Amino acid sequence: MPETAQEVLKMIQDQNIQVIDLKFIDTPGIWQHLTVYQNQIEESSFTDGVAFDGSSIRGWKAINESDMAMVPDPKTAWIDPFMAEPTLSLICSIIEPRTGEPYARDPRSIAQKALDYLISTGIGDTAFFGPEAEFFIFDDVRFDQNQHEGYYHVDSIEGRWNTGRKEEGGNLGYKPRYKEGYFPVAPTDTSQDMRTEMLLTMAKCGVPIEKHHHEVASGGQCELGIRFDTMIRSADNLMIYKYVIKNVARKYGKTITFMPKPVFNDNGSGMHTHQSIWKDGQPLFAGDKYAGLSEMGLHYIGGILKHAPALLALTNPTTNSYKRLVPGFEAPVNLAYSQGNRSASIRIPLSGPNPKAKRLEFRCPDATANPYLAFAAMLCAGLDGIKNQIDPGEPLDVDIYDLSPEELSKIPSTPGSLEDALEALEKDHEFLTSTGVFTEDFLQTWIAYKLDNEVNPMRLRPHPYEFALYYDC
Ligand code: GLN
Ligand code: MG
Ligand code: MG
Ligand code: MG
Repeated sequence: MPETAQEVLKMIQDQNIQVIDLKFIDTPGIWQHLTVYQNQIEESSFTDGVAFDGSSIRGWKAINESDMAMVPDPKTAWIDPFMAEPTLSLICSIIEPRTGEPYARDPRSIAQKALDYLISTGIGDTAFFGPEAEFFIFDDVRFDQNQHEGYYHVDSIEGRWNTGRKEEGGNLGYKPRYKEGYFPVAPTDTSQDMRTEMLLTMAKCGVPIEKHHHEVASGGQCELGIRFDTMIRSADNLMIYKYVIKNVARKYGKTITFMPKPVFNDNGSGMHTHQSIWKDGQPLFAGDKYAGLSEMGLHYIGGILKHAPALLALTNPTTNSYKRLVPGFEAPVNLAYSQGNRSASIRIPLSGPNPKAKRLEFRCPDATANPYLAFAAMLCAGLDGIKNQIDPGEPLDVDIYDLSPEELSKIPSTPGSLEDALEALEKDHEFLTSTGVFTEDFLQTWIAYKLDNEVNPMRLRPHPYEFALYYDC
């Protein structure tokens, strides 16, 4: 894989590549792209960028100041396997073409600033992140965005389960039983070949792959395992992950959703995120405290837990995110930490004697998050914990779901809605802005965007379930 601009240019020449696809992420977290002929890319493109009109990108510039430039990162070069002509793909960050400064609303540049901030504190020089994004494979989804009823209809690849609808069609003999999708072999597991193709395609795109499996929910819930990586590379990998999964599924005539709770009353899809900080090649979270953590690791947890309600506005940024964070589906509800307990929002996985494997797993995030923003925000929260030596309190080694209401009431819980999380972010964001990582303008734009485009439009629409409750009243 090329590392420098010269190596990318050589690759284009050697492989006679005619077109280069430049990809960048918008604020909500969707990849956008522009394809250019090979003569449009030269060495200066990797510093001065390639010009484009940024006026229609969600959450970005107004039309009267729309000139932007995208700067490809030569370390991200891969051949896009879904294009008919050999196409080199490059992931880009965004700059202001007049000043050459990183664009303050560009998520990938925000992640870079978080990394710069980590280094500036002297605490560490590398942050590792490992996201585990779950998803559902569906045969068919129909919805009409403009209908006031908000009508939707989902056919899972394993038939209809738990949707409150009548079973239809097919031999249902090998359907995974309720909450038993994890993980019988074929013929119950019908998406094996698709997942293998997804995994191997990802490897061809340069993503370090590890495994794949069906997940707990029946109805086609799956997960592919990719190796942890440095923060920005890991976010890049996650974008390739989503891209490959969606495009391989499309070849099979299926669709993918990463929405956190597509099916009522079954497990939702999370994006547990493993994280650790290193300095000079040494892991900093391994030590002789609880669960083999260092004091620094515990303080990092303290920072995440303290800021979690605000943090979730970036790690769980959709109205649907909060339908997942409810008891009974392996999703965290309480803001607590524990060694093995998967009902706590932070888990310290058993990692064996090797200190390099010592990390924590924040289980709240879901894959509707923009990974650059989510990783940057989690790093800021953890670093705030380290700088201010925030005590995470006692670990919770009981099954939190088994506690009495009285015991439970002492444990803070995750926000109940996106609106609550945005309100928490409004009140608590100094840990994001005082670092220089997020600007006040960015966060205010984020809050307003989410309220105007998601929270309020959802609130204004009659919900299908309201018909069941109130039609005959
Ligand atoms: N799907 C669960 C969640 O929402 C996680 C299940 C698992 O990976 N053990 O977080
Ligand atoms: Mg997993
Ligand atoms: Mg999982
Ligand atoms: Mg996990």
